Formats: sequence, structure tokens, C-alpha cells
Amino acid sequence: ISSPEVLNDFGKHHVTKGLARISEGVMVKGSGSYVEYVDGKRMLDFTCGIGVTNLGHSHPKVSQAAADQCMNIVHAQCSIAFHEPYLRLIEKLLPAMPHPSLDSFFFWNSGSEAVEGAIKMARVLTGRQNVITMQGAYHGRTFGAMAVTKSKTVYSDGVAPLMPGVFSIPYPFWHQHRLPPSTPPSVLTEECLYQLHLLLSQQTSPKDTAAIIIEPVLGEGGYVPAPKEFLEGLRAVCDQHGILLIVDEVQSGFGRTGNWFFIEESRIRPDIMLMAKGLANGFPLSGVVSRKELTDKLAPGSMGGTYAGNAVSCAAACAVADAFREENILVNVQARSQELFASLYALKDDQTLAQYILDVRGRGLMVAIEFASSEAPGAAFDPATPKGLTVKKGIASRVAKKCIEKGMLLLTTSVYEVVRFIPPLNISQEDMKKGCDIFAESLREVVK
Ligand code: PMP
Repeated sequence: ISSPEVLNDFGKHHVTKGLARISEGVMVKGSGSYVEYVDGKRMLDFTCGIGVTNLGHSHPKVSQAAADQCMNIVHAQCSIAFHEPYLRLIEKLLPAMPHPSLDSFFFWNSGSEAVEGAIKMARVLTGRQNVITMQGAYHGRTFGAMAVTKSKTVYSDGVAPLMPGVFSIPYPFWHQHRLPPSTPPSVLTEECLYQLHLLLSQQTSPKDTAAIIIEPVLGEGGYVPAPKEFLEGLRAVCDQHGILLIVDEVQSGFGRTGNWFFIEESRIRPDIMLMAKGLANGFPLSGVVSRKELTDKLAPGSMGGTYAGNAVSCAAACAVADAFREENILVNVQARSQELFASLYALKDDQTLAQYILDVRGRGLMVAIEFASSEAPGAAFDPATPKGLTVKKGIASRVAKKCIEKGMLLLTTSVYEVVRFIPPLNISQEDMKKGCDIFAESLREVVK
């Protein structure tokens, strides 16, 4: 195996088809906002490896912290003893928690495992079975996580039976209610809370319901921030019935939406909060945080995992938390976010493009643009789809593909025609402008 082309073909032959990729080639290097492929191709990365490398690729302080830890101890197994980076990380995360009650941590490897842990905890602590999730939610690919995932059928096609006892309500996302994008959040909130009350009286009684799990910003379901009133409404229902509220900040956390965690906006108190992705900037690490009063009720040994809370990942995460504070990351998010939104709104206001653009939304640097398509799911019933417009399915992927051809990695999301922008949180003004220009140019070429 020598030439890059051969290596790529080797991968196509020997790596399972179950994995899909958005770009051709073999990635060998990443630095800041750019990645390089083995053939020398250099790409501006607006995907951050799906919202993970929030501080850019190979952040020097994070990589150095991991390298140093490798020379001390790599695998200080969490059921054998505490290890220092694990405890230092908790020290650093505590002041960033969106609610002071969140004071008891457990680290795992992936977001999916954190979801599994949270469901397990909720069932054990309440003695109840059922879990309520949201339409469009994505929580992962393991069995429990897959059962509460409702974003695309591809994740569970042919896999059933999944974990039983899962119910869902709509998310306050206008599409799910056949309402226009301009619908006030209060209207969407009322509709969803009404559906929750119906569900609790018709399908899963509160005394059988262990938890409600929610992504405070719907991610793989379309990049939709939940209104504060909706999160508050969920909290009230949980308080009323002793149901646990699990907030999945796996994608929205760690500065992605302009705060350490999205729910800082609403200040609601989660019973369990989940984090991963940006937590260690690419090293496998996830966290489940709850309150001591609850976790004290768990049987010792009921939680664990061979690699859970790996020392190198924890050391990297400590460096992430330090860099966040030292490098004023959140200030950069605000500035770059304004530029990104301004550029997308300019496209929406452009006479030749306006008819193709349904919505621009998001928060911080978790931003999406949605295109109209006459072939979107339910388009025939959806008043949001402009009448008489004929745009074939896949406009979002065609635009993303065009961006990739022009040197920028970009992802789509959801069953709708949505392109999502998740650049590094420390991206420069120059690279943000470059990304916006590539996107605008690609869109014009695709619709012309
Ligand atoms: N929850 C959310 C909100 C996510 O976005 C993801 C990953 N996209 C997961 C859970 C699952 O995380 P992982 O892929 O690390 O298992």
C-alpha cells in the first residue's frame, strides 16, 4: 500500500459499509481550523468532527497535556483507584456547571454511554421504567440510546426490538406542528406541553415514568434551540410528578452555543446532565453529572467501564477547561456567530435566493440554514413549503458537497434540507469569512 489512491480504495474494501463518509481521501493531519489529507489536500473544517474539536484540531496545550499524561500513566482504571486528572477535571468543571446542584460526576467514553448511564440511573433511582423523549432527538447508537433516538430511521432500521418503555412528544420545532418558521416560541411551547400532559394521562402514567430526556438544542433533528419556557415547563412537570429531567448537552455544551452549556440561558435545574464531544476536544470522554443526594443512592459497582474516564482523556479535558478560560473562547464565539448569522441572513434577503431558504436558526456557533424542497418529508401537507417551488430532494447535500469540492468540510443534518455550521469556537475572522464566502458561492452554483 503506497499511493494515497490505493489507501483510499483499501479502506473502501475493508471498512464496513455501515460507516458513511462525506469526503473522499485519507485524513492525516489537523491543525486549528484546517485538516489535511494524505494527497496534500487542505480543507477548512466547519464540522469539527461533528462538533468535537471546539478548540480546533491538535490544540497545542491539549495535545501537550495528553502527551505528558501518557508519560505518567495511561490507564489508571476508575474501579481500581481515583486518578489525579479525573479529580482535577471535576475541580475545573464544577464552577462551569449551569446549576449549583450538579456536583456528582461520572466519566465515560462516548455520548451514547453517558445516555445509557443516565437512563439506567433514572430507572434505578425512581423504581420506574418508562422514558419520554422528543421527536427528532438524537442520543446515540447503543441500544438504550437508539431507543430514545427519533431523528432518522436509518439508525435503527431492522434492529428492533429496542429498549421498551419509550414514548415521545413533539419538540418545539415549527415543522413538527405544521406551522411557519416565524411561529412564536410560546405557541410551540404550549403545544408541546399540552402533548406531554396528554401522554402522561393516556400512555405512560407519571408513576411509571422515570425520566424525560431532552437535547436543549435539537441537534441531528435540525438544529433547533428549545425555548426557555419549554424547558421550564418540563422542569415543572418533572417536579410535580417526581420524574427526572435528563438534559443531553453532548453537542450543545462546551461553548458551542455561546455559554459553557446551553441551559445557562434558562437556568433550569437538570437532575442529570450529559456532556461529551467538546469536553476533551477529540479524546474519547463523556460525563454524567447529577447531584450527590441522588447518586449516593446508587449501589457501589453499578456504574463502571474498563476505559471509563481514561486518564489521558481527562488530562486533555483539564487543558480544554483551562484554554476556555485563558483564551476567552466564549468572546470569540459571540463575535464569529454574529458574522455567520449576518452572512446567512444576507443570503435569505437576496432576491434570487430567498425562495430557496426557509429558515436560518441556531445559537452561538451551532447554526443552521434550511432550504425549501418540494420533496421534503410531508411537504404536501406542510404550509412552510412554498407553493409552486420545485426543488428536488437533497439540495442541502448538494450544497454541502459543492462546499467540499471548494475546500470546506460541511455537514447536513435531519430529515429536512438543513446544512449545519459547527466551526471551531476559536476560528479566526478571516477563516469565518472564507467559510461564508465558499458557502454563498456554492449555494449560488447549486440553485442556478
Ligand atoms: N447525544 C447527542 C445530543 C449527540 O449529538 C450525540 C452524538 N452526535 C450523542 C448523544 C452520542 O454521542 P456518541 O456519538 O459520542 O456516542
